[in-house]
Order: sequence, then C-alpha cells, then structure tokens
Amino acid sequence: EKILVQVAARQYEVLIERGLLAHVGELVATQWSPRKVAVISDQNVAALYQQQVVKQLETVGFEVFSLRFPAGEASKSLSRLASLAAQLAQAHFTRDDGIVALGGGVTGDLAGLVAATYMRGVRLIQIPTSWLAQVDSSVGGKTAVNLAHVKNLLGAFYEPDLVLVDPAVLGTLPQRELIAGHAEVIKTAALAGGDFWQLVKEIRTPAQILELTSELSARAIAFKAKVVMADEREGSQRQILNFGHTLGHAVEALAQGQLRHGEAISVGMVALSQRLSQLGWVPATVAADLTTTLAGIGLPVTAPELQMPAMIDKIASDKKNRGANLNLVYLPQFGQPKVKPVAFEQARAWLLETI
Ligand code: NAD
Ligand code: ZN
Repeated sequence: EKILVQVAARQYEVLIERGLLAHVGELVATQWSPRKVAVISDQNVAALYQQQVVKQLETVGFEVFSLRFPAGEASKSLSRLASLAAQLAQAHFTRDDGIVALGGGVTGDLAGLVAATYMRGVRLIQIPTSWLAQVDSSVGGKTAVNLAHVKNLLGAFYEPDLVLVDPAVLGTLPQRELIAGHAEVIKTAALAGGDFWQLVKEIRTPAQILELTSELSARAIAFKAKVVMADEREGSQRQILNFGHTLGHAVEALAQGQLRHGEAISVGMVALSQRLSQLGWVPATVAADLTTTLAGIGLPVTAPELQMPAMIDKIASDKKNRGANLNLVYLPQFGQPKVKPVAFEQARAWLLETI
C-alpha cells in the first residue's frame, strides 16, 4: 500500500507492507544520495532492529551512526534532545545529512524534533515500529518534547521525506502496547465512520488486530493524511484528530506513568462522550458503541481515581491552556465529528455540571 501525503510545498510517501524492513537500504536510497545517517532508537527497539537497519544502510553506501536512548516517555525531554544533537555534532553532521527515526511514538517525536532543529533542519525518514506510531504518530509532521510537566510543550511541524511501515515488527511488540496503540485506530475509525468503523467495531482480540494490521494501518493513515492535507496546522479541521485528547492528556498526566498514552485517550474519549451524551450533544447509542468497542479490546474506559474535577483542574493547570479556548471535539454520529470552540470556564461548567 502506498499513500501520498502532500502538505504545503512538500510531498512524501507512506509505504505499508509486511517485510519492508528487509529492503530499507534500497528504499532510503530512493530518497537520499550518499550521506551520513543517524539511526535513532530507544534501547528496546535498538536491541531488536537497529543492527539490521544500520547494515542495510551501509550496504547501499551511507555512513551510519547508531544513537540510542532509554525507552519511555521520560526521554521526550530537552536534555535528551540536547544530548542527541551533541552526538550529531561530535560526528560532524551537517545540514546535508539525515536522521532515521526507528521506533515508537516517543522516538518519532524526539528524533523528529532533533531533525527539525539540528542546524535548523536536516532530512528525516520515519520508520515507526509501535502500533501507535504505525497508525498515527508517524504521519502528520508533529514532533515535540515535554517541558515543565506539560506534554509536547516544545515542538515543531516537520515532515519526513518518507515513512516506512512494516507490520511484521509488531510481532515483538508487548501486547499491552498493541492494545494501547489500538485506541488511536478506534479513535480514527470513529471519526471516519462508514466501512472503517464497521470493521473496527468487530475487532475483539489482539490476534484479530494482528491479522488486519496492513489494512488498519493503511486506513488510519489515509484518513489522517486526508485531514492533515486539508489543514496542516491546527485549524478547525485538523482538531478533530484531538478527539478525547484534552481529557486524555490530563488523565495521562494524573496517572503518573501508570497509563499508556492510548489507554489514557481511551478513558478521555469515553469520559467526554458519556458526559456530552448526558448533556444531549451525543446520542447515548454512540457513547455506548464507542465504550463497548474500546472495552472489548481490553482498553480501560474508566479510571476510578480520576474524577472529572481532577481532570479539569489538570487541564486548567497546564500552561498551554491558560486563558485559552478549548476545542471540544465530539461525535454526534460516527463519521461526523464536530469541533466546538468554548471558553475554558464554559467547558468546565459543562463538564462538571450535574444533572
Ligand atoms: P513508545 O515509543 O514509548 O513505544 C512503546 C514501547 O514499545 C516502548 O517501550 C518501545 O521500546 C516499545 N517498542 C516499540 N516498537 C517495538 C517493537 N516493534 N517491538 C518491541 N518493542 C517495541 O510509545 P508509543 O506508544 O509508540 O508512542 C507514544 C508517544 O507518541 C507519546 O509521547 C505521544 O505523545 C506520542 N504521539 C505523537 C503523535 C504525533 O502526531 N506526533 C500522535 C500520537 C502520539
Ligand atoms: Zn494520541
């Protein structure tokens, strides 16, 4: 499967195919002339796949450096960004050289921001290896690190030259990560509606996800690409992709590392939909279908210790949200997302109101 993404003046392909990693040398060589390449991965992914990718790139004539960092969200930090950039400088990287981000969403966000900022920007190729990255984060051009306890506070829009998705690598992904990433598939399918939602609604086991990876990844990425192409930066169109994320990010922060990103987003989508269905904005059947589909694959849909007031306080305390409007994304029907900009205090009142 080949999906073309075109944003502003740039255009790149997303290739999705089982076994692609075995051809990564030739594929990268279609984009880049010989140069220095840094393959950046977290320790887990490095141990499994970095060597293979490095060898392939060397075979087609690149001078390759492997850079590694500790796995986990804590590595999306300014200090990690600085240390990677320092390693590039030490290896005498120039603006003509390139970075391959080989890993999950943390790697894509971190290595992507290194690529966006090192000498004001070097070339980038994304090779997503987690389910979350293969269905969502590797496309759309968002890169970031966390700062001052605010997620993604410092970042840039930076498009890669190529995205290579090989679903075969999911064979080594821990099951919890597979299920967490699937929250983004359910989110995207709910926004897209139609066939995609019908397909995703029927998925009940991790084995079913693994049977359908190529199709699910292609559909999720094609939908995201369509939205991003219509609206690269955060206009009202692109904001639909944040469905469940305002509350979800609060849940993720409050859970202090106990919940994966996708798990927190699952709780966020359900909390929002159930609340808005009480207010009559979302039909009860939509909230119920969404909840059943998320719970059916094993995602959390409530987090008892995370009550709505605590989530709202967390949203309020994020510097990013101070004084700002919140864009509430909600689903009056599958396939028909709506974005409603509301003043923060109004949103607080709606979300907290008891009936
Ligand atoms: P992650 O990158 O930490 O990967 C999850 C875990 O899986 C890690 O331990 C990693 O080492 C391991 N792993 C990855 N691929 C593997 C494989 N093939 N085999 C074995 N282990 C493997 O986390 P994630 O869930 O992929 O991404 C979450 C991050 O993505 C968050 O920081 C989130 O903010 C970000 N995100 C970004 C965007 C975007 O548009 N840029 C969108 C959604 C999420
Ligand atoms: Zn997300």
